[in-house]
Amino acid sequence: MPKSTTTLVVTSTERLSPGMVRVHFRSDDLSAFADSTDTDRYVKLALGTPEEPVVRTYTAVEPDVAAGTVAIDFVVHGDEGYAGPWAASAKAGDVLEVRGPGGGYAPDPSADWHLLAGDEAGLPAIRAALAALPADAVGYAVVETYDADHVQPLNAPAGVEVSWHHDGDLAGAVRALPWREGRVQVFVHGEAEVTMHAIRPYLLKERGVPRQDASISGYWRRGRTEEGFRAWKKDLAAAEG
Ligand SMILES: Cc1cc2nc3c(=O)[nH]c(=O)nc-3n(C[C@H](O)[C@H](O)[C@H](O)COP(=O)(O)OP(=O)(O)OC[C@H]3O[C@@H](n4cnc5c(N)ncnc54)[C@H](O)[C@@H]3O)c2cc1C
Repeated sequence: MPKSTTTLVVTSTERLSPGMVRVHFRSDDLSAFADSTDTDRYVKLALGTPEEPVVRTYTAVEPDVAAGTVAIDFVVHGDEGYAGPWAASAKAGDVLEVRGPGGGYAPDPSADWHLLAGDEAGLPAIRAALAALPADAVGYAVVETYDADHVQPLNAPAGVEVSWHHDGDLAGAVRALPWREGRVQVFVHGEAEVTMHAIRPYLLKERGVPRQDASISGYWRRGRTEEGFRAWKKDLAAAEG
């Protein structure tokens, strides 16, 4: 990830659903995004205070380097934390420093089919992946939202079946999909326990998806701040050798 910092200035905010706010930014210099082709491109947000800095990770949506615009879709999950509450009260003129972008996934047009799955935190990256898929792509996009009124418009190629779920069982929804023939590329991101302990073993072990065709990770961990989640990830990596 580039070490350079980009200064973003809020231009407006938009409610995408009762649980998500899109914050639109402009910048005089978005050159750090010029070579970014990963659809899951993410940035590190500098929040907190100079005395007590806090870093949070978010997907950068539709960066337009020439126009100097970019957006971030924030889950607003209550009063806890830094980034969610920051976004909920963001207003034009607010300044945010970000580092990045990093990334690790883009749809592979040579895959026979695609499986995209996630919760609302993963939705911005899923939306970007769907937009980058070839028009003749086939597969599934499975999204878990808090409630039915959190569903958002999502454009997908005609051959990609989009389904929304609200029962808290994203893993069950993925398991219920009819498995297709051929080489699948998967992208699964959301709450860490669900993605790493329920969906990942199903896809990698039971279905035998090769690791190089799988982008699977937790984006957040229920009951933990991002700092606590990082410690959880470190422990998991150590346990898995
Ligand atoms: C690569 C990457 C990309 C990401 N992209 C996005 C994105 O585009 N949009 C987005 O909203 N999130 C995204 N996330 C997830 C985001 O970084 C976390 O949700 C983060 O913890 C939010 O920080 P916070 O300061 O609001 O809450 P924290 O201080 O980290 O946590 C406070 C409390 O809120 C809970 N919490 C945190 N996130 C959620 C949530 N989504 N739903 C319910 N409860 C939650 C925690 O479990 C904790 O109890 C991404 C994460 C990664 C790793």
